[in-house]
This record gives sequence, structure tokens and C-alpha cells, in this order.
Amino acid sequence: MTLQVEEFRKDYERVVKGMYGLSVEEASPFQLYNALGAYVKSFAGEHWSRTKTEYEKKQVKQLYYFSMEFLPGRMLKSNLLNLGILDVVREGIEDIGLDFHSIVQAEEDPALGNGGLGRLASCFMDSIASLGIPGSGSGIRYRYGLFQQRFIDGHQVEVPDNWLRNGNVWEVRKENKAVNVRFGGQVYMAEQKGRLIPVYENTRTILAVPYDTAMIGYQNELVNNLRLWSAEIPPEDYVHYSSISAQQEVNQLTEVLYPDDSNYEGRILRLRQEYFLCSAGIQSIVRYYKKLQLPLTMIAEKVAIHINDTHPALCIPEFIRILIDEEQLTWEQAWESCKKVMSYTNHTIMQEAMEKWPIEMLKAEVPRIYQIIEEINRRHIEKKLPLYGEELTYQTAIIREGVVNMAHMAIIGSHSVNGVAQLHTTILKNEVLKPFYEMYPTRFNNKTNGITQRRWLQLANEELTQLIDEKIGTAWKKKPSELTILKGFVNEDETLKQLEDVKLRNKKRFARYVKEKMDITIDPNAIFDVQIKRLHAYKRQLLNALHIISRYLEIKENPNAAIQPRVFIFGAKAAPSYLYAKQIIKLINAIAELVNNDPDVGDKLKVVFVENYGVTLAELIIPAADVSEQISLASKEASGTSNMKLMANGALTVATLDGANVEIRNYVGEENIFLFGLTSQEVYEYYENGTYSSRQIFESNPRLIKVLNTLIDGTIPDIQEEGRVIFDSLVQYNDEYFVLKDFEEYISVQREVDELYQDKQAWYRKSLWNIANSGPFSADFTIMRYADEIWKIDSQMPEIELS
Ligand SMILES: *Cc1c(COP(=O)(O)O)cnc(C)c1O
Repeated sequence: MTLQVEEFRKDYERVVKGMYGLSVEEASPFQLYNALGAYVKSFAGEHWSRTKTEYEKKQVKQLYYFSMEFLPGRMLKSNLLNLGILDVVREGIEDIGLDFHSIVQAEEDPALGNGGLGRLASCFMDSIASLGIPGSGSGIRYRYGLFQQRFIDGHQVEVPDNWLRNGNVWEVRKENKAVNVRFGGQVYMAEQKGRLIPVYENTRTILAVPYDTAMIGYQNELVNNLRLWSAEIPPEDYVHYSSISAQQEVNQLTEVLYPDDSNYEGRILRLRQEYFLCSAGIQSIVRYYKKLQLPLTMIAEKVAIHINDTHPALCIPEFIRILIDEEQLTWEQAWESCKKVMSYTNHTIMQEAMEKWPIEMLKAEVPRIYQIIEEINRRHIEKKLPLYGEELTYQTAIIREGVVNMAHMAIIGSHSVNGVAQLHTTILKNEVLKPFYEMYPTRFNNKTNGITQRRWLQLANEELTQLIDEKIGTAWKKKPSELTILKGFVNEDETLKQLEDVKLRNKKRFARYVKEKMDITIDPNAIFDVQIKRLHAYKRQLLNALHIISRYLEIKENPNAAIQPRVFIFGAKAAPSYLYAKQIIKLINAIAELVNNDPDVGDKLKVVFVENYGVTLAELIIPAADVSEQISLASKEASGTSNMKLMANGALTVATLDGANVEIRNYVGEENIFLFGLTSQEVYEYYENGTYSSRQIFESNPRLIKVLNTLIDGTIPDIQEEGRVIFDSLVQYNDEYFVLKDFEEYISVQREVDELYQDKQAWYRKSLWNIANSGPFSADFTIMRYADEIWKIDSQMPEIELS
């Protein structure tokens, strides 16, 4: 189906008129956007409906990817690209005399996720559809997404993200597919016709209404589904919802996303959200399966359910509940199916991120589910005790010391547990989940994360895409491994110069944004040094800040010395309750205030902390980056994905050997990455020996003394409180993330960065080498491995062989 510019123009003008009674000249950018969205949706509708019918007719096995978070970014351009009509539509829009860019910008960026985990889910949705894999996403339609971040006097202030204010053109409400989810009350078992069935009393029922969004495959005429659930008052149950407070309770359920990243927030509302997603999602899956008229004992042949971190782990007891209570299977039948159907991804080794729900909370909120968890636990212990003895067996218990350990349940109830980078999976096996690895060695596997080059290269960096096309043709877009052909160009001066020009134009574009939004002038010829990710102590934005202070002091001591100019760019939100992270934000903003306004400094050093980092800003910053900061304490970052996005856009990585940085190093080679710092092994040795002493490091390093003293001696303005807290965390409280230990090596590797940048040819040779090696980090490859090794699902596209 090829679309002509003329045809598009006519259709589009008709849509605008039909929706708004306005000509395209009269319509606002938002109206123009909304009409274009409606047009795109109807364009994809044919494929959407056909895909669904085909799946059903062929009874193909389908994947259901459960995630409490999806972070899709704006969808207009991505949908146009995947439908293969981006160029025609852009041309048509511009022919009419409209500004395509301003139409694109009128779209809200749906922030239904915190960071890497939610973004991964969305990259996966794109890859699953693009590879022709039958699979859909299951999540929550939060009325408010992640807060919008503002800075007031350098402090983070959170503003509600009312993203649905003007509606959402991409979603389709499916009221006829709604299901009931039960909470609270009491449950007891009663005998009925020789079977035990649960009897519920005093429960509240909440209606789960799905909203579906098309997940459009890349130029393959295939459209999958993302199903987000919204809580509503069941219309027939008005008696229970006559009081305002009862109504509010329902409305609250899917009101807002919890703003915590890598942190467990044990609030009751969060537990309700988790069960709500699991129950609605599983009910909907079982209902669909029953339409196929196959015995329920065969469900694992048609259904794979993936649990993205433990947040949706209640899928396991909910699945059992439905099969035994509502479909009359035996426990053994339900349990066998459950293990075959479920698979689980672990995303972190950080203790504070581990979900452990108090028994009392589960009993009160989901009493029948708690009974089932108890039974899973009882059977697990009973079976493993004679095989592994008390110590090991009790280490793997689901229920222990008053809490339900969700990771334990996720492992025991599924057939696959995967980490998200080689190093992370190794640490899971040998340290964090060691007892489970002993029990279930074959269940553990690695699936290194990936990114979709469609969004992060083709859409975010059109100029680089065009340059790559000129050099190696366009086949890499369907086969990212072909990016390696670029290796043949690293000694071609002309190509390197072209790459430099592309980078410079992207830097100028970002510089214009910074000028307009923040009124800071930055020099596009400086090194653009980028650290964009959630603000977390383990990610060590603080180490970056200490390096900036060190540079500032050097400039002040020696104002006339030649120095390579650098712009330090940060983007990061802190969880509202994470005080230390917010203090670091304040510190970096105060450093920016100091250095950006010091006439001795000028263009040699600038600090830009962009407000409200999210997918849309990432798309602007990443193409403009020269340096990618991936400096977490080794062992703490499970994978990282911004490292992959930045590499694909030609940034050179300054990295610790953590997460997927290790694999990036393996592909590009040591000479094409700037490595520093402790290895994860050394970190674990420190833990074992307990010999880390930050004070000793501090006292024996004159540079550190000078740098850290600026936190408490008034050099940096307006950080009396923050400066002291941060200083003490590093010196007095023994520096939990070994910032001081890695400081000196970090400074010295940064000097190498400056030196290399003096030789542009050498720099861009490495830059091109990084781009050429970024293909393996395509989420398409990651998803092929999930589909082949975990889900056992085939692609519907004959040309794609997964194994
Ligand atoms: C990719 C991405 C992340 C993940 O970044 P890491 O550096 O891997 O933590 C977080 N937020 C957004 C908006 C992203 O696009």
C-alpha cells in the first residue's frame, strides 16, 4: 500500500475538517497533531485488525509482557516511520505550508515509567512487533505519569504530569473487554460437590477497563497490542460505592505512577496496583484462550507470560487461582502449567529494590492470593528439604520473617530467570541468588538488554542515519548487524569529516535548546559530556560533580593555561522521597551557578542540568553527545541502556566495568573506550574484608581534600546544608559507593579524553568504530533470544528465523 503525497494531503485536510470544523490553516498545532494521529491510527487499523484475526485463526502461541511501567516516548513519528509513510506525510504537511516539527512537538510524552525498566519494555514492544512475534504488553494506564521536574533555586520541585488532559489519540477504550478484580474481605473454603471452593465475604470489586494502543511493526504490516488497564467503579455495584470515600478509593488505584526507581515502596496502594494489573491481565488471557476451545491443561502451548521485574509477580498465584478456583483444574495441573507459562527478568541486585510485602498486608488485601502463596511455599519447602537440607531450603523460602519475598516466588513459579547483562547474570548466580542457582541451575540465563535503533538512531538522529545510508546502504535498518560494515570506513578521512559535521550540527541544535530554555550559551566546539539517567547514589553523578569541581579549581589556580573546553550535561529526576539524591541535584545546580557565571572560566567549562529529563529530551541530547558517562560503582548497574543509545550515536564511553559496559568493551576493544575504577570483584572483596576506608583515601590525597572542602567552605554558593551532608556521606560515613576510591583514576582518564579530542581524526575514528559496533545491542537481537530460548514463540514473518 503506497501512499501518494497528493492523496495524503486531501485525506488529511478532510480529517482536520471532520474533527474540528476547521481548515488546516486555522487549526492549532495540537489539533493538527491530533488529526494526524487519528489519520495514522486509521491507516494502521487495517493491519491491526488483520493481525488479530490471523493470530486467532492460526492459534499461534502468544507472549504477554507484564510490566508496571512502559515509557514509549512520543508515538507520532515512530508510527509514521514503522508504517513506512514518514517521508510522504512530512512532505505533504510541508506542501500545505505547515510546520511538521511543531505538530510533532504538540504530542505529550507519556511518562508511564521511571527510567530504564520502563524504557526497556517499550523498546521490546517495538522489537516484538517489528520481528513479527505475536505478543502484547500488559500495563497500567496511570492517570498521571511520572512527575514533571522543575528547578527552583536549584532544588527539584515536582509537578503532576497531567498527560491525559487533552485526551490520547492512540488509545482505544474497550469497555466490552472489562473484567472485575476483587480486593479485601475474608475468604474460607467450603465443600461443594466434593471439591473445595473459596467463599468470599465483604470483598470490594473494582472494574478493570482496558485501553489498547497499536504497536506497529517496522514496515511489516503487522500490528500488536499494548493493553493498559484503568480502574473504575463497576456500574452494577452502586450500592457499595455510594460513599465518596469508596469512590475515591477506586479512582486512586490507577491515579499515579509510583516515582521510585530501583527502590521498593511498600505502600498498600502500590500492592493494589500490582494485583490489579496481574488479575485483570491474567483474566483477559484465560478468557481469550478459552475462545480457542482447547483444554486448559494445554495453555502453556499457546501462552507465554513474562514478568518484568517482580512488580507483576502476583501473576503467578493469580494464574493458579483462576485455574483451580474458576476452571476446576487440580493444583498439580495448575502448577505445572504455571511454571511452563511464566518467565521472570531480574533487574537489580540492590537490596533496597527487593520487593518484600508484609504477610499482614497481603492477607488483608488479597486473602485468597495469600493462601495460594502459602501453599506454593509449603510445597516448595516440603519438596526441597530432603534434597537440600534446612539451610539452603529455608534461604529460598517465599515466606520468611513476616514477609513474602517476591523474587523468590518469581523464581520458584517460573521456568526461566534472566539477568540483563553478562556480568549481572554472573553476580545473580554466584552471589545474590546463589541458593536458587544451586537448586535450579538450568533456570538461569542471560539476556543482555538492547535498544531499538529505529527510535534511537533513525528517528533521533536523521543526519547520522543518512550518512550511514550513504556509506553502507539501508539494509542495516532491518539487519542491525550490518552496521559492522562501517568498520571499513574508519580510515577514510572524508567519512570521518562527515561524521564530525553531523555531530557538530546535532550539538548546535542542542545548544539552541539550551540557549532558549535556560539562557546559557554553550560552545558547540567544546566536548559535550553527557550523563543522563535517574539520579541515584549508585550511578555516581557525584563522582562526575567532583571532577567538575576539580577542573574548576584548576582553572582558578591557573586562569591562563590552555585547557580543552567542556560542557557537562546532566539530565536526571530524583524520587521525591530520596533526599540524598535531591541534595546532589542541588549541588550540581549550585556548581553550574558558580562556574557558568565566573568570568575566569568563560567557555572553558560549562554545566547544564536540563529540567525534566525524559525520552523526548534524551532524543535531543544523545545525538549531540561526545562523551557518555557510565560511571556506576562496578556490580551495581544491572545493564544500563543509555550506554547503548549513546554509543550508537557516536559518543565515546567513559566507563567502569559494570553492567553492559563490559560487553561494550568486548566489542569495541580497550583502545576505544575509557575504562577506570574498581572491578566488581574488587568491590566484593572490599565487602568481604570490610577494609574500605574513605577517610584514609581522603586524607592522603591533596586534590581530594581541596575538592571536598569546596563542599563546606563556601566556595560553592548556597549549599550549606547539602554540602555538609554530602561531605559527611563521603568522609564520615565511609562512602557507600566508593566514590573516593575511583576518583583519582577517573580524573586521569578524563585527561586522556581531553588529549584525544585534540586529534579530531583520531576521535572520530573511535566514534565511528563505536557506531559500527553498536549493532549487537539492538533490542531485535535481545528479543530474538527471548523468543527462541524462553518464550518458544515463532516469528510470523517467514524470512525471520529466530534460532
Ligand atoms: C534509556 C533511558 C533510561 C535508562 O538510562 P540508564 O543510563 O541506562 O539508566 C532512563 N530514562 C530514559 C528517559 C531513557 O530513555
